[in-house]
Amino acid sequence: MDSEPILALEGVTRRYGPAVAVDRASLTLHAGRIACLLGPSGCGKSTLLRMIAGLEPVDGGEVRIAGQSVSTPGTMIAPERRGVGLVFQDNALFPHLDVTGNIGFGLSALPAAERAQRVDRLLEQFHIAHLARSFPHMLSGGEQQRVAIARALAREPALLLLDEPFSGLDGHLRETVRASLLGDLRAAGGSVLVVTHDPDEAMGIADDLVLMAAGQILQTGTPADCYRRPVSSAAARLLGEMILLPGEVRAGTITSALGAMPAPGLPDGFAQLGLRPEALRAGGAGAAASLLEQRFVGNGWRVTVDLAGTPVTLRLPDPVDGEVRLGFDPAAACLFSA
Ligand code: ADP
Repeated sequence: MDSEPILALEGVTRRYGPAVAVDRASLTLHAGRIACLLGPSGCGKSTLLRMIAGLEPVDGGEVRIAGQSVSTPGTMIAPERRGVGLVFQDNALFPHLDVTGNIGFGLSALPAAERAQRVDRLLEQFHIAHLARSFPHMLSGGEQQRVAIARALAREPALLLLDEPFSGLDGHLRETVRASLLGDLRAAGGSVLVVTHDPDEAMGIADDLVLMAAGQILQTGTPADCYRRPVSSAAARLLGEMILLPGEVRAGTITSALGAMPAPGLPDGFAQLGLRPEALRAGGAGAAASLLEQRFVGNGWRVTVDLAGTPVTLRLPDPVDGEVRLGFDPAAACLFSA
């Protein structure tokens, strides 16, 4: 991937008064990839997206799109000149235009034949050709979202930005729309940055994950890397539960309530051993833990035990009787120095 990235952020910062909404964010996104910006509500995701789109100035750093500098402090290229498409959660379609009119809306500069051809191609690509003459109020939420995305792609942006695009849809519909829409976007070969606060959504759609908390980008990588090898306990938590056990490092070995294991490169002193719940196993040899509470949850039992003062929750096929022995897979353990 040595080609020019579609998007490059370098130390991008945005302040509101004394508060720093985005703090020195850096990342690169390459052509044809779907990246997901994941973080809790209020961590700065939308602000970052708006800076990329040119709806918001930067107070520090630089935004480059397809090699061109589009934002630095004091300079900002207009949104329509950046080659980005933007779709929000509540993206309103033009109510008085049918689907064809909505998709073709921004193409008035093209000759009519070319415009029609491009709209037809998008109608096909996004499987909405049968809705071409329908008006927005006649469409389901999922169909409206398809039209909004097709409309954003009509001007052939280098980069498509989607801000919580599926959060207006619920449950099963959300999953179906998401899977099929992302499949269509992938087939179209677009470069996409999706903002979401939903870890399952991010893991489900991203080629590249960007983990964000409190205005900062904590980690970027594939979903598997970010899940298995989080750089910090804060990054780990964004993708689901992680059990953190206090440990003591001495000469390259960490000792915790679960015993000793190698900790190469970690400085002597306090550290944490991090385990996803599935890296723990119950029964056989291992450290003794006593039952705190357990609950039947359909596909097994959710059991919380006390492991040397740390409450540990795991999913087990059977209930526990008072005490359980816990072992773990050292290869799946994460180590965080203090
Ligand atoms: P997210 O998209 O992750 O929910 P936002 O980017 O919307 O987060 O907000 C990040 C932080 O910046 C929040 O604390 C929010 O209150 C603040 N913020 C966002 N926009 C403005 C604004 N226009 N004026 C002042 N504060 C803002």
